[in-house]
Amino acid sequence: MNKGENLWQTALQQLNETAKRINLEPWIHKKLRKSKRELTVSIPVKMDNGSVEVFTGYRVQHNITRGPAKGGIRYSPEVTLDEVKALAMLMTWKCAVVNLPYGGAKGAVVCNPLKMSAGELERVTRRYTSEIISIIGPEKDIPAPDISTDSQTMAWIMDTYSIDKGYSVPGVVTGKPIAIGGSEGRSKSTGRGVVYTLLNTLKHLNLDIEGKKVIVQGYGKVGSVVVDLLSKEGCKIIGVSEIDGGIHNPNGLNVGKLWKHKKREGSVAKFKEADSITNKGLLQLKCDILIPAACENQITKDNASRIRAKIIVEAANGPTTPEADKILKEKGAFVVPDILANTGGVTVSYFEWVQGLQSYFWTEREVNLKLRDIMTKAFYKVWEISLKEEISMREAAYTLAVNRVAEATRIRGLYP
Ligand code: NAD
Repeated sequence: MNKGENLWQTALQQLNETAKRINLEPWIHKKLRKSKRELTVSIPVKMDNGSVEVFTGYRVQHNITRGPAKGGIRYSPEVTLDEVKALAMLMTWKCAVVNLPYGGAKGAVVCNPLKMSAGELERVTRRYTSEIISIIGPEKDIPAPDISTDSQTMAWIMDTYSIDKGYSVPGVVTGKPIAIGGSEGRSKSTGRGVVYTLLNTLKHLNLDIEGKKVIVQGYGKVGSVVVDLLSKEGCKIIGVSEIDGGIHNPNGLNVGKLWKHKKREGSVAKFKEADSITNKGLLQLKCDILIPAACENQITKDNASRIRAKIIVEAANGPTTPEADKILKEKGAFVVPDILANTGGVTVSYFEWVQGLQSYFWTEREVNLKLRDIMTKAFYKVWEISLKEEISMREAAYTLAVNRVAEATRIRGLYP
């Protein structure tokens, strides 16, 4: 099974288990097992050398019962329709966990952005936008950045869409630059949300954050913010890694120097005031808190029994496989699932959309306070379900999400 099929099967398995647990009506279960809409497009683009390449693009809307579809667009040479379908479904659950009035979507273009010029990326983005233009829009489906796309990509999408309409439509995407209607606090929002979730976790477990030893896998847009904010909270960051390797210092890393090293060298690897360690080794180090913030399938049945952290907060999407999840549960680790922990990004995306629709913009302080409020409410709700039903935080988050979507589906009924 390739990565995409794997992710799709896991997504279905999680839905099936939840449906059984909450006694979901078969018709709603059947409906939720399928995407509402899957669009595959071809994207012919003039390359810098004069040749024409035809790329493949996808936009999948899993569900729009609770509001417009919402989800990122990723550029990757390996991405498949199955992967996009799985991630779109995950977005439905994430938006429902934090109670945003959205459904779930995801998009992708099969391309290798590392081998493309800025001009080629702009032409791919604009043509992809034009190919999916009939199904996106502020009331229909609102894309955002994901792997290898950023605020510039969103600016090109917004511009292409606006030219088609004949007026500026900032609400068609989120994660835009501030100059064209982006939100203060958006770029750090996922990492900040992870930290709020960890603070809530520690509070409820009656633990103090001061001096906690933390390991963060991944030092990108999410991981670097988590490292910075947690060190300000008094944690000791004892290990960090990136795709090309990790670093470990049991006495705590100097995170200011680490940030400068990353800016200068492009990676945390080879940071002088620490020992080198592999990604595999890093995950198994003794620590209080482990935060996977890199990519999928990092904690598997092969290494789960050797993970020593008692608290795991999933900043990445799908870092733990279902088999590994069972092993961690048996070991008594407290795992905060991705669909709760990494929703800070989509929450501030929602704020950006609201601000854009009202043409009234908030300060970063207001954004952060509102983010903390929403994430804390969601944490309490999931925690409450987990205690009441004696299930894990992941099972509780799925229970909450699927129940919310099911309730909306039931009330709206089936057309015709
Ligand atoms: P990024 O591309 O900015 O950073 C990814 C980091 O992970 C980099 O440090 C990279 O070197 C490292 N990495 C990649 N593959 C790795 C591997 N095989 N082993 C070890 N390290 C590896 O991405 P990001 O935006 O920080 O996203 C990280 C994760 O968080 C992803 O799973 C993403 O889907 C998820 N996420 C991101 C956001 C967001 O707002 N950016 C929101 C929700 C979820």
